[in-house]
Formats: sequence, C-alpha cells, structure tokens
Amino acid sequence: MQQEDELKNDERSESSQQKSQQELIDQGWMLKALLLADKAANLGEVPVGAVVVLDGEIIGQGWNQPIGLHDPTAHAEIIALREAASHVGNYRVVNADLYVTLEPCSMCAGAMVHARVRRVIFGAYEPKSGVIVSQQHFLKQRWLNHDVDYTAGVLADTCSEKLSQFFKARRAQKRLEKERE
Ligand SMILES: [Zn+2]
Repeated sequence: MQQEDELKNDERSESSQQKSQQELIDQGWMLKALLLADKAANLGEVPVGAVVVLDGEIIGQGWNQPIGLHDPTAHAEIIALREAASHVGNYRVVNADLYVTLEPCSMCAGAMVHARVRRVIFGAYEPKSGVIVSQQHFLKQRWLNHDVDYTAGVLADTCSEKLSQFFKARRAQKRLEKERE
C-alpha cells in the first residue's frame, strides 16, 4: 500500500514537472512573439505578434499590420500561418503550435482550425473580441472538424502591458496633435 502511494506521488511529481517544463517552453516562445509585437508598434499598428512552432523550430512569424498592408486579414496569426504553411508546403500545419500575444479573434481562430493547428497559446486576454475564452469558446464547438487545444494567459501581464503602453502613447500623441491644431 505504502509502495503504491509512493508510486502515485512519483507520478504526480513527474507530471507536474512536465507541466512546469511546458510552461517554460511556452514562455520562451511567447517572448519571441512579444519581440514581433514591437515591430507592429514601430509601424503604428496595434502591437500583436505571433510565431508558429513545429518540432522546436519557428516556421512562421507575423506581426499585426492591417493598416499598412490595407488588408483586414493581416492579423499577426494569419501572417504567421501563411508563412508556416508555405514552409511545410501544405495548408495544413499538422502538429504545429501557434503562440500569439493577444487572444485571437474569430477570423484567426477559424484559420487555425483550417490549418489544423495543434495548440494555440495566447498571452493577454481580449475581452471585446477574443473568442477562445472571453466572448465564447470558439474552439470547443462540436461542429468543427478539428480540435485545437489552447493555453490562455502565458506572460499575460507583459503582453497586456505592451498593449496599454501603445494605446497610452497613441492617446498622448493625439492630444499633442490636437493642441497644435
Ligand atoms: Zn485575428
């Protein structure tokens, strides 16, 4: 009996060890996505960055740029998925994981299902248009032909801080422009 208990404890600590290892890996990729978010901010776009990772390697990266590209679909996730799909030579990026600094919208969540993404990992919550957990549980709908797992809130504070700083700076800029008028 005691032996059994010890065995269970071992299993438990092993699985929590695996869990914390995965958390570290997730944070590492999220930091890469955060760097890409800066590229969007430098272009005056809402700072969101995304990377697609397959077998421990980045195969697609993107940052938000709908304004600059005159493209309503140019969200970070879509750009990263396009690059990933062309990297593997298939619209299905099977077993790939997508890291993005902000909770995805319905368009991006739909694209992830089409692309057969394995798991989406996001940073900040988006209460207005996020569909992974905020407005709805898009990926949990039964009619979808592919299950995408998700992990929410990885480096959430850092990701949302980047967004608030951007909007704060933009508001200040607008105030300045108004004063000059
Ligand atoms: Zn989107």
